[in-house]
Amino acid sequence: MNRQHLIETERPLTELKGVGPQTVLKLNDLGLYTMSDIILHLPYRYEDETVININEAPDGEKITVTGEIYSTPRVSYFGRSKSKIMFHMLVDGVAIRVEYFNQPYIKHQVVIGERATVTGKWQRSKQIIQGSKFHKEAASSETALVPQYSLKGLIKPKQFQKFVEQSMQVTDITPMIPDYLAQKYKLWDLKQSLQVLHFPEDTNALRQAKRTFAFCELFLFQLKMRMLNQNEHQAGLSVSIDYDINAVKSFIETLPFELTAAQKQVVNEIFRDIKLPMRMNRLLQGDVGSGKTVVAAIAMYALLTAAYQSALMVPTEILAEQHAESLTELYGDKVRVALLTSSVKGKRRRLLLEQLAAGDIDVLVGTHALIQDEVVFNRLGLVITDEQHRFGVNQRKRLREKGEHANVLFMTATPIPRTLAISVFGEMDVSSIKELPKGRKPIETTWAKHEEMPIVLSKTRDEIAKGRQAYVICPLIEASEKLDVQNAVEVYETFKGHFGRVGLLHGRMSSEEKDMVMEQFSNHELDVLVSTTVVEVGVNVPNATMMIIIDAERFGLSTLHQLRGRVGRSSHQSYCILISNPSTETGMERMQIMCQTTDGFLLSEKDLEMRGPGDFFGVKQSGLPDFKVANIVEDYRMLEVARDEASEIILSGKIDEPENKWLKKRMLLEVSSLEID
Ligand code: ADP
Ligand code: MG
Repeated sequence: MNRQHLIETERPLTELKGVGPQTVLKLNDLGLYTMSDIILHLPYRYEDETVININEAPDGEKITVTGEIYSTPRVSYFGRSKSKIMFHMLVDGVAIRVEYFNQPYIKHQVVIGERATVTGKWQRSKQIIQGSKFHKEAASSETALVPQYSLKGLIKPKQFQKFVEQSMQVTDITPMIPDYLAQKYKLWDLKQSLQVLHFPEDTNALRQAKRTFAFCELFLFQLKMRMLNQNEHQAGLSVSIDYDINAVKSFIETLPFELTAAQKQVVNEIFRDIKLPMRMNRLLQGDVGSGKTVVAAIAMYALLTAAYQSALMVPTEILAEQHAESLTELYGDKVRVALLTSSVKGKRRRLLLEQLAAGDIDVLVGTHALIQDEVVFNRLGLVITDEQHRFGVNQRKRLREKGEHANVLFMTATPIPRTLAISVFGEMDVSSIKELPKGRKPIETTWAKHEEMPIVLSKTRDEIAKGRQAYVICPLIEASEKLDVQNAVEVYETFKGHFGRVGLLHGRMSSEEKDMVMEQFSNHELDVLVSTTVVEVGVNVPNATMMIIIDAERFGLSTLHQLRGRVGRSSHQSYCILISNPSTETGMERMQIMCQTTDGFLLSEKDLEMRGPGDFFGVKQSGLPDFKVANIVEDYRMLEVARDEASEIILSGKIDEPENKWLKKRMLLEVSSLEID
């Protein structure tokens, strides 16, 4: 959600009291440039510091209590800069000890006989509070919800709240939701909602504020989608693509396998769509390994027989290369396939673009390089995006617009409930491939502890002796690509010590290097491929039958499932070994679920349940709108309501009434901002 469009006035930060050039820089560092940015920089969480009775305090939890200090504080120092302060309090008739680490300055506030409020972790057995916060007086209010802001330690929360307060005073915050809707759904206005989000009085008010804000976000988003769709409906007419069914049939006969019933059905659905003089807008869902690529290949082949070009956009270079290769293999010399990524440069690139514009290329495979302006097709009739949730709405839109009436097919292995897909991606038809190709043996998944590595190695040796290959996935170390690489290199060395032909793949390598290693693996010049999660999406080496995932508890279920889907792509029995010594219940549960089921849909539901939708969709990769408060999974009902109301306000023409002028203006801003992204 583009923050600029929620609040109209833009006042500079320099108008704030107590904000000098230094502070401006710090705020900029946080991505805040105007007062409305500050207002919309909402807390990510609220800490409950409501004072409770210690006799009812849950053991081991962070609590807040009030009592009387009855011992002088003792401060002890250890190490160079470490310290501990300790004193005793009488709280609700219970004598407890309170300790603070590395906050020696509290000492002066701790006075015998005075009342104080302390927040910290309660250990009942020892009658100790491990303090984190200290207030001299007893807390006055009954409930205290303390907003937690993401400020990277640059600005103190209290100070930030002062900036918020000031900004709220001088900024015009117009209501976001038309009156009749606010009444109908009992919503507050935006200003009140923002006020409470920053300064919550109690949980009920906070809930109502969140509800209002979420509705604002969803409503504006749905208006935007409606607008886009409307524009699309006007351009929704397309030419009928008159493919040569006999040529397509004989192409299908050359395939090295028989299509599954599900694949046939999807192919037919696509054919029906492209024959109609309407633009196809179809989502193809199919679990990893279900054979979506060949469906795409057939569709693109059909386009070729009617002298149309097709484009296939994928998220990574490796995947682009793989697709280009396997398509070339499938098509033989009947189709002119080309590959465009950012590593195609100079003369080669110029030539390729010339050929494309002249219509000498039938199928163009590539990364987001495909959406650049210089890429001009001759007669683009079909656009396919693979793993579509990894591309933003805008990227998909730009690719589609390269063809005058291009048909669109989105492919994804992440099951998204249909209704959710429609609400988020707009009106579309959904096809599913629910069966795996015949002869596949379910992947055998086991869970091993780190100390069982020798067993894992011997199992790997067996597979390699049978002529099979293995992937080894190293855990992603958050926030440090350097450590990631280091880690991968270590694992690589370990395997290198046991096996001869081992390759390494990680994010710091150039795409040429990556491609080379991938190619060696795919040509069976390597037996083992050690990699960070770069192989997650789409790669296809059917001879690989072993997937070893190290520190598996660090991955979400959906990711584990995607990774596991790299094996089990032939009639050979495949294995997935999760190496993990999980330290939490959830970690253990995750391992068990992975061993129990290979059903992607079930796993993603579990994932949703265990990790929440933010994680599930992946923050960066989702292509889903990035809401501040609304959550498209949890607030799904509200999303539907917002969708209906958005349709209604446009269809009824209410959007053009004077009192909704501002809304229309903002919506147009939203829509036009899509072009820039
Ligand atoms: P995904 O849906 O994950 O993209 P792919 O298209 O990569 O799956 O297909 C996985 C593997 O299954 C590939 O090796 C492909 O050649 C093979 N395959 C696809 N369809 C069939 C089929 N009908 N019968 C046998 N193998 C198939
Ligand atoms: Mg695929």
